[in-house]
Amino acid sequence: MPYKNKTHNEIIAIDGPAGSGKSTVAKGVAKRFGFLYVDTGAIYRALTLAAIKEKINLRDRKALAKLAARADIQLNMRGDSLRVALDGKDVSRAIREQSLTEKVCCVAAIKEVRDELVKMQRKLAKKAKGAVLEGRDIGTVVFPEAKYKFYLDAWPDERTRRRFKELRQMGQKVKVEGIAEDIEKRDKSDMTREVAPLARARDAVYIDTTELSVEDVVEKISSLIGNSRCSI
Ligand code: C5P
Repeated sequence: MPYKNKTHNEIIAIDGPAGSGKSTVAKGVAKRFGFLYVDTGAIYRALTLAAIKEKINLRDRKALAKLAARADIQLNMRGDSLRVALDGKDVSRAIREQSLTEKVCCVAAIKEVRDELVKMQRKLAKKAKGAVLEGRDIGTVVFPEAKYKFYLDAWPDERTRRRFKELRQMGQKVKVEGIAEDIEKRDKSDMTREVAPLARARDAVYIDTTELSVEDVVEKISSLIGNSRCSI
């Protein structure tokens, strides 16, 4: 599936493992540049939810690929908050439930599913004058020719702490141990799968966010982009 997009220089790719701060940072960068924000993890989550609702076996590659091709998944910003709709219904909370999170890797590991969802992500980004996409394979597969690529990382304890805080704020009753286990399992699965594994693109800027605030990271990314835009 070759990538062709004349607007690729206005694509900002942000990848990294769970809890590395991608979502908050990507949102901040998108706001700074007036670009579209695309949370690709939310798309994989919404598709998984759709499969569960339709009682599709999560190992049925054909049925899942068909579902991916017809699923009505919409991402919209309401203020600073991303709202995710499936078939017109708001599923923003449902897609963050722990029981759903555990199943996403399984669906995301299927090539045919990824082919469909990557198509959708490219289409979304192309419609905008610029887009910030965050996920696991943006700089390596979705937009390998993006001019701006970043790989965010943080120490596991810090990633667990962030995820715990985030889920508690959403009102979920979660335990630190459970979160740590989930992050470890998901990272392993995302990094070792055959198709589009989580990896740092060779030309991505690596940022360890362990000791940085969200504002620090947004500032760092924005200034790197700003400088390189000036030098064109
Ligand atoms: O980013 P988030 O934690 O919401 O992603 C949920 C899951 O979706 C990841 O653990 C991964 O399995 C999958 N994903 C992916 N490729 C992306 C984004 C997310 O495989 N670009």
